[in-house]
Amino acid sequence: MEYGLVDCHCHISAAEFEEDVDEVIQRSREAGVQALVSVTEGFEEFSRVLELQSRFPDLVAPCFGVHPLQVSGGSDQHSVKCQDLDSALPLFYKHRERLVAVGEIGLDFTPWCAPTQQDKDDQMEVFIRQLSIAKEFDLPVNVHSRSAAKVTISIMQDQGITRALLHNFAGKPSVAMEGVKAGYFFSFPPAVCRKRERDKLIRQIPLEHICLETDSPALGPEKHVRNEPCNILLSCRHIAEIKGVSPETVQLVTTQNAFRLFPKAVAH
Ligand SMILES: [Zn+2]
Repeated sequence: MEYGLVDCHCHISAAEFEEDVDEVIQRSREAGVQALVSVTEGFEEFSRVLELQSRFPDLVAPCFGVHPLQVSGGSDQHSVKCQDLDSALPLFYKHRERLVAVGEIGLDFTPWCAPTQQDKDDQMEVFIRQLSIAKEFDLPVNVHSRSAAKVTISIMQDQGITRALLHNFAGKPSVAMEGVKAGYFFSFPPAVCRKRERDKLIRQIPLEHICLETDSPALGPEKHVRNEPCNILLSCRHIAEIKGVSPETVQLVTTQNAFRLFPKAVAH
């Protein structure tokens, strides 16, 4: 089997890609991307990701998820409420066969996102309910965690989650190692190349627990510039440099990890 690159966390159904998605997909292929694990943030996005899977079935591997931060009705971001999941739930069941993972789900406890304890409680409830869906569907989870590293990992362990990707993880290395012990994977977008502050964390996590991601259209190599899956090569090279191995080794191992974690993405 050929080993291309797997972007384990990107938002190809985002509005930012609506106008030129064909070119974006073409550039991904040219960069050697073999699969796009395509997360969503709420039910409004679900039909778009399925449409993209129909158009690019060899590349787009869809995930459904309700993100801890919601943007609706043109308003600013707000912390997720249980009703946001209630609206999405029937669609999870309707399309379960097409999903490769449940995500993007998780916790965001940064103070301006979740100012009250009620916000945090609601986020945890929505997160736990989606972890149950993943177990029921026998799917892995694609997880966002900000200012909530420890609680995210301990909730997943308590819920008996064995297959998880913690994307753009920025917690302490000691907390990450708890996740490694639980068998979880960690991925890092091109934005980590901008500063060296994540190097120590990346050095400590064994390569056998690392995947590649871009989080496109966010978290690119340049601030305020749209990110694309083809930039995955930057993450690959950066991780190779920190680990003192070749980019080819990082590509091979992370792609094997990606297909172990998201086996349904292989078929795409
Ligand atoms: Zn994301």
